[in-house]
Amino acid sequence: MNDLEKTQQKIETLRAEIERHNRLYYLDAASEITDREYDQLLQSLEKLETQFPEFSTPTSPTQRVGGAPLDRFDSARHAVPMMSLSNTYSKEEVTEFKRRIHKLIPAESFNYILEPKIDGVAISLRYENGDLVLAVTRGDGTTGDDVTSNVRTIPSIPLRLADLMPPAVLEVRGEIYMDIAGFASLNEQRQEAGLEPFANPRNACAGSLKLLDPREVAQRPLDAIFYATGQLDGVSFETHEQMLLSLKNYGLRSTPTYWLSEKIEEIIDRLDELENMRHEFPFEMDGGVIKVNERRLYEKLGYTAKSPRWAVAYKYEPEQAETTLHAISIQVGRTGVLTPVAELEPVQLAGTTVKRATLHNEDEIRRKGIKIGDRVILEKAGEIIPAIVKVLTEKRTGVELEFTMPTTCPACGSETEKRAGEVALRCINLQCPAQVKSWIAHYASRGAMDISGLGEALVIQLVDSGLVKNPAELYALKKSRCSG
Ligand SMILES: [Zn+2]
Repeated sequence: MNDLEKTQQKIETLRAEIERHNRLYYLDAASEITDREYDQLLQSLEKLETQFPEFSTPTSPTQRVGGAPLDRFDSARHAVPMMSLSNTYSKEEVTEFKRRIHKLIPAESFNYILEPKIDGVAISLRYENGDLVLAVTRGDGTTGDDVTSNVRTIPSIPLRLADLMPPAVLEVRGEIYMDIAGFASLNEQRQEAGLEPFANPRNACAGSLKLLDPREVAQRPLDAIFYATGQLDGVSFETHEQMLLSLKNYGLRSTPTYWLSEKIEEIIDRLDELENMRHEFPFEMDGGVIKVNERRLYEKLGYTAKSPRWAVAYKYEPEQAETTLHAISIQVGRTGVLTPVAELEPVQLAGTTVKRATLHNEDEIRRKGIKIGDRVILEKAGEIIPAIVKVLTEKRTGVELEFTMPTTCPACGSETEKRAGEVALRCINLQCPAQVKSWIAHYASRGAMDISGLGEALVIQLVDSGLVKNPAELYALKKSRCSG
């Protein structure tokens, strides 16, 4: 082996090693190395690839965020049409689904398989000889948007399959979603930046995939789960379960849980069990998908104009609660953004007591027609953030009050301004005590410096007593206490 061949081998070993650590991190949640060690591996690879550009390839782990901004997305045709599932909302309809199947294939014995339904954005990935070559949105089912450069930035999606003998063509279909915790912090950032927050993780995910700059997409907490196939060449699967397990071996994330049974009654019982697990997933789950497990029966069962006859989606009711909006208070964030907050009659929603809900901004209050004193319907957006989704106008008594944003800051009395291109009002006073409090609280929080013992109550005390006017003074304070 000459030197060049040795270098090539070293590069390939590094790539395989990095991809292995990626899978351990994203698929198995079991890292063997620290982030720092991982970065060092990536840097060594980058260095070699710069030195030997002849060995660079678009599927290298260094090439996730290499794409230049696009002017628009090209459209791409699906090799196999991308259908959607028919939805049912009652268990009777699930039983009806079983009856239809038995009528079509009375002599066959088979199993049903149930898996969680992810509320995300449908996607089809195409791997040729193991390399990711295309990622297309569902579109109209025949043609979708080519979002390959955006999908490449999603860290849990392999650019190359983890298989030494990959099939000639493997098309996998699934859902891209935004991690619920990531959604919450993305909305918080947008709020602080005076931008319109996203209504729910699915909207945030769809909005992210439509961004034309992959570097921006890379900042969004996107992830994916796969549960179906499109075109296959050089590989086949006997059952749905076998396919799910194989996807894992390829390094593709598949459903975190599923149930198998030959009895539809048992699957129906499991639907309740799955609904109880609703808050355990990192994605928003809005139902369960029931499929015939034996893939050989798919052609026999066939398709309607829009959906396969061998699968059905059962949708759960959204978790809602009715309560009274007593008042709207104003919160001043660390960048001075004034956020209206709904003060509610405490109510149980999805296992927690909800007393407050964000209203985001004045436009949103207008759009939803919210008045103080209204009876309202709450829903959890992204399962964690309660939001008012509806006003029960029929329950109004005439004492409800119109809300207007204050023209001055409620914390310091300073003027407020609306910057061009923003929806939010801001307090213009940099010494505003409310801003200083949020700034210090943010600084001391877990996401930032993680100063233990510096809770909200103490921050309020420190700022109100004039002891602290900015985060730097926290340290001065510590010193004077020690020496004094
Ligand atoms: Zn202020």
